[in-house]
Order: sequence, then structure tokens, then C-alpha cells
Amino acid sequence: MSHDRPLDAESPLTLPGFFDALADGDLLGGVCEDCGQVLLPPRPVCYACGSRAVEVEAQPREGQIYTYTAVHTPPPALADEAPYTVAVVELGGGGRLLGRVDADHADVAIGDPVELRVREPTPAEREAALDYEEAWPVHVFEPR
Ligand SMILES: [Zn+2]
Repeated sequence: MSHDRPLDAESPLTLPGFFDALADGDLLGGVCEDCGQVLLPPRPVCYACGSRAVEVEAQPREGQIYTYTAVHTPPPALADEAPYTVAVVELGGGGRLLGRVDADHADVAIGDPVELRVREPTPAEREAALDYEEAWPVHVFEPR
């Protein structure tokens, strides 16, 4: 059972483990065995019911815009890219994930179908990242 594994950087229940899998194209979610909540990224404890019975399962990369906004005041390193669109996307498995949308705010609507794409961070994104985040892949939602 996944909740018996150690919580080190190799574990998919930690952010480094999540981003390692994401770099390989696998979007991992934690699925609570007690209440069914999908935790994105995975966490060792369910934030809906407090259970530690969390299994890690690959999640679908396709979903719909749940809510979205435009970022007009980003971190300084990303100033040239503003305004950009950020959304909470509800994925096919029921989990919700925050990320940038590769579309202008005016062209996005709630319910729009999107697909998650993973890429290397740009130099500006590396500059905006914390040291331990620099090598993490960047996920972007693309309209379908
Ligand atoms: Zn739960």
C-alpha cells in the first residue's frame, strides 16, 4: 500500500516525486480509498476526510475549465508574459489542478475542454522559481 512507503523524494506522494513523474508525462494523483477524493498533486493525507489511505494513480490529462482568471501582476521575471491566463481545471478523474492556459483570457470560458501538456521551464520561469523548483517541468493547459 502506498501509505506504507517512506515519504522521501522518490515517493509520488511528495512534490519532487510528482514532478519526476510529470517530466515523464505521467500525471499522478492521490486517490483517497475512504472518500474517493482525488488529490492533485498527491498528498499523504486526504484533505477532504483526513484519511491516510491514499493510493497513487495516473490521472487523465484531459479536463474542463472549472474557473479562470487573468494574471496582470506576475512575478517580476514573468512581467513580459502578462497578462496571462490561469485556470483551475477539473480533470476527467475528478481532481482539480491549477495551471496556466495557453490562450488569451477573452478566448477562455468555463467548461472549455483542455488538455495538459508538459514542457521544460523557460529561462524566465527558472528565474521565477525557487531553487529547488528550477528543474521541475512546467504544465500548461491547451484548449482542445
Ligand atoms: Zn478522503
